[in-house]
This record gives sequence, structure tokens and C-alpha cells, in this order.
Amino acid sequence: FACNTPGGSKIKVAVRIRPLLEGERTQGHECSRLKIQGGNEIVIQNDENGGNRQKAFRFDQVFNQTTTQSDVYAGLGLSNLVTKVIEGYHGTIFAYGQTGSGKTFTMEGYDQVQGMSQNDFNKKSVKASHTSENIGISQRCIYELYSQLGELKKTERTSGRHYQVFCSFLQIYNEKVFDLLNTGSFSMVGNKKMPTAEVNAKQQQGLRVRWTKKDQFVVENLYVFECQTAEEALELFRLGSKNRVLAAHNLNDMSSRSHTIFCLTIESQDISHNEMVTVSKLQLVDLAGSEKQGLTGTTGQQAKESIDINKSLLVLRKVITALTEGKGNTNDSKMSFIPYRESKLTCLLKQSLGGNSYTLMIACLSPSDRYLEENLSTLNYAARAS
Ligand code: ADP
Ligand code: MG
Repeated sequence: FACNTPGGSKIKVAVRIRPLLEGERTQGHECSRLKIQGGNEIVIQNDENGGNRQKAFRFDQVFNQTTTQSDVYAGLGLSNLVTKVIEGYHGTIFAYGQTGSGKTFTMEGYDQVQGMSQNDFNKKSVKASHTSENIGISQRCIYELYSQLGELKKTERTSGRHYQVFCSFLQIYNEKVFDLLNTGSFSMVGNKKMPTAEVNAKQQQGLRVRWTKKDQFVVENLYVFECQTAEEALELFRLGSKNRVLAAHNLNDMSSRSHTIFCLTIESQDISHNEMVTVSKLQLVDLAGSEKQGLTGTTGQQAKESIDINKSLLVLRKVITALTEGKGNTNDSKMSFIPYRESKLTCLLKQSLGGNSYTLMIACLSPSDRYLEENLSTLNYAARAS
């Protein structure tokens, strides 16, 4: 893992191709346009318009259709990333790709986490355990974090440090921030039968994002819970995921058009010097679908949604491009170079993207030839970041 520094950022970029789904197989989708070469090169064949064009991309890692969740976790060295976050660096992992390409599967996996205990994880029986194999990166990072903190606790007296972990879970939809752990704020989003139009309109504004003197943006009134154990954190993760699904059920296409951020904040205190507190964050991001929203036929609210979503991803790309081209600088005076403020997403990821941080982007691809255009667009976006 290369660390971003104020002078020049390096974002680690991996690509994951999901397997063909049963439904796609029965519909006769073919998979002939994506070829992996070695462990880190991918070639896409584009002969749509008669020509025979190939484009090759190189990334830090490319995972094929048969790669398991634990292969991805291990292959990307994510336990090291967690160690860095405990040491005080910020970390961000985000999944990018069209709807249906495997972003949520990669970050979240199947909700079978109940079957897995901290003990299972410590014994590294994750791979062998059938029920837990499909859990995603987020849960694995949560387990890893508490596992490593557990080890550190044993030496707390000698190391002189005390750790606390806080969790929050939010959703950005239509450039508005909603709390996935606050059912009050959430039911306003999802339930169309809210009391008065006035209350509804107010809640629909979402939570305010405010700039603080500490060189960061904060979400006002966002629920933040201290979690003592991995189970507590996972409980919140599951609750937020469930709320996300419920909200999407009520609002057309919300799940493909929204970004979610699960944030683990680690506060580490030097016991002998009470006031010396280090705060670092690990942000786990499931981005909105990157597909072009067909503007024909979409009207009103839906058209507005599509424009805002493209905007967030566009700004994210601008920010990443600015950072990777070495224009990045965490000095306040030079902050204007990086357009963080242009979208909610980049405001909230500011600390993690710039400065001393570790960032990983996982670009997700569908194997089917029918998604050639979307896959090409995803690869181009990812190539910008690397
Ligand atoms: P996205 O979040 O990008 O819209 P999903 O994660 O929901 O996409 O994936 C779409 C479908 O593909 C889901 O049914 C999911 O279970 C399945 N899927 C995605 N990636 C994999 C994978 N690596 N292995 C098996 N199934 C997968
Ligand atoms: Mg999804």
C-alpha cells in the first residue's frame, strides 16, 4: 500500500470482474471481450463499429470471476490497511462501477455475517466456513480492527495508549445526506406517507454538512455510536444496510443512485498525556451506479437525481485527478486546487483522500459482452485514478 502524501497522492486501484449470473447465462450472454493478462493487466476488445480495437489497462491488481471474497481481502492486503488506520492514518475503500457489477457484493457481501464469530475470524477459518465466506470487505475490516485492537489492549499498560471506536453510517442521495442509523431521519426519506408536506420537505433536505476549523467537514446531527466490540459495530452495519434496502424499496431506484459511507473512527489516547488524542477514520464507500442515466424519458425528480449522481462521481474524478497529478496539498491556503466542496461525497471524503491517507478503489466489472460500453467507461475512470 502506498501512502498519499501532501506532495503527491497514490491511489491503489484494483479491478474485479464478477461471475456471470445464472439469469445472464440462461439469456445467452457471452463473455469474450475482457481478458486478464498476468495479475494486473486487463485488455478490453472493442469491435462494435466494425474495427478491431483493443485497449489495455494496467492496475495494481485485477481479480477474475473466480476470486472469492477472502481472496480479495487478502490480495489487497487489507489487514495492513487496518493496521495503518490504527496507527493514525485515514483510510478509504470505495467500490465503483455500473449497477449490477458487484459493488455491494464486494463491500457488503451476503448478509450471512451472523454465522461468524470474532473467534472464527481470529482462527482464520473464514475461508473454510461456508456461511461466512461471502461476507464483504466492510465486515472483514470490522473484524480485523477489533481483532488487532484486542491484541493492543493486552499491552495497554506498557504501550500507554487507549483506543475507542465510533461508527456512523450515512447515505448520500440526490446531494442530500441521510442517516442510515437514525430511523427518524430515515423513515422521512423512505416513507411517502409522512404527516404533512411541510415536515416532509424539511426532512428531505437531509442533514447539514458543515466545515469545521479542524480541517474537515462534519455532518450535523449524525448518529455516532461508540462500539466496544466487533459485534456491536456489525450490528450497526446490518441495521444501516437494512434501512438502506427499505428506503430503496420506497423510493424508486434509490439503491443504484445513492452513495453510502460506513465510517469507523478510531480515537487513540496517550494515557500519560490525557489531551494527546489521535483521530483516524476508515471510510467504506459503496458508490452509486456509474452508468449513464438515460435522460430521455426521465422527467422531474428522476432527471434531477441522475444529474446529481453524475455530478458526485464527476467531482470525485476531478478530485482524484487533481490529487494524483500531485497538485494535492493539505495546506489550507492551497486547498482551492482540489474541488472537494463541489459535491457532498468529496466533502465527506476530503480527509481520507488528501493528506496522509491510504485510498483503495475497486472498479467492478460485469463479464457480459453486453456491458462493453459501461465496462470501458469504468476502466477509463479507474485508469484516471491510478
Ligand atoms: P451493485 O451493487 O454494483 O449494483 P451487486 O453487488 O448488487 O451490484 O451485484 C449484482 C448481483 O451480482 C447480485 O445478485 C450479487 O449477489 C451478484 N454478484 C456480484 N458479485 C458477485 C461475485 N463476485 N460472486 C457472486 N455473485 C456476485
Ligand atoms: Mg449495490
